[in-house]
Amino acid sequence: MKRIGFFYDFDLTLSEELQQTPILKKYAKELEAKYKITEPIQYFLKLCKQFDKSVEWMEQMLQDSNEIFNGLTNEKLEKEFGPQIKLAKGLPEFFSIIKEELIKQGFECEHHVISVGVDSLIKGTKIYPEVNSVISGKFEEDENGINKIGRIVSEFRKVEHIKNICKGKKMHSDLSLNEYYINYKNVFVFGDGASDIDMFRFILQRGGVAIAVFEQNNNEGYKKAVENLGNSVNVIVPRDYTDNSRLKKVILEIIKERIEAEGKCDMDYELIHNYKLGYIENNEIQKIIKKHLENCEHCQNKLKKRFYFD
Ligand SMILES: [Zn+2]
Repeated sequence: MKRIGFFYDFDLTLSEELQQTPILKKYAKELEAKYKITEPIQYFLKLCKQFDKSVEWMEQMLQDSNEIFNGLTNEKLEKEFGPQIKLAKGLPEFFSIIKEELIKQGFECEHHVISVGVDSLIKGTKIYPEVNSVISGKFEEDENGINKIGRIVSEFRKVEHIKNICKGKKMHSDLSLNEYYINYKNVFVFGDGASDIDMFRFILQRGGVAIAVFEQNNNEGYKKAVENLGNSVNVIVPRDYTDNSRLKKVILEIIKERIEAEGKCDMDYELIHNYKLGYIENNEIQKIIKKHLENCEHCQNKLKKRFYFD
């Protein structure tokens, strides 16, 4: 049985808001008094120079933990704030629905979340019981609540985590691709922004599928995704995981195409990918790839851009 791996960023990929939003909303008054912050997002924009860069928001939150947030603990993060995080439409049901459908087609399927956020918040969401793993930051605590950073997941290390999971138990030895626990070709990566570009490019180059999501019905969001992520992904779809969603249709369509293509094309996909990027300098090789591409619908399908506003 073949295994398909789905890897997700969390904030604004699986959720409709940053995971810290419920905390920032609850202490809005205190934040306004101390920092003149009137919107949750300003907490990051004003106080963390490199918003989205994982380390700084954790440090900032530790600093504010007692004075502003009234003593945050991992338990509070999980039990009080995690459940309040607004999830994307269709979640968490999507995880088991897609799994069921793929099992019928003879696939095993795994869901993994890689987030620059913290595990205690994500554990409090309904997503947690539905996924195989969550890799994210961690706060340590003493009797007064969270007091230091236990682990950081940096956006620059997201690719490392994908590699580790795909290589499986034998991850420290050199494996041929066929021995991988999850073959990169069978990996779908979901993200929403610049911090996901490394993961997108990594998987795209290896024949996997990179999917960028944007807020449903948000025209600007769609345009931004096409402009900023268009070159790094093969799919752009609204952040909607419901049963009739475009997102689900596209996933099943791609899997169907790939099943049909099996054994029908033996061209090394990385060559095709590099050719498209203009990295192949040898004229003869260029010609061979060009000719193959013109005649191979399977390779054409793999290169196809599937960008949908709805
Ligand atoms: Zn081909």
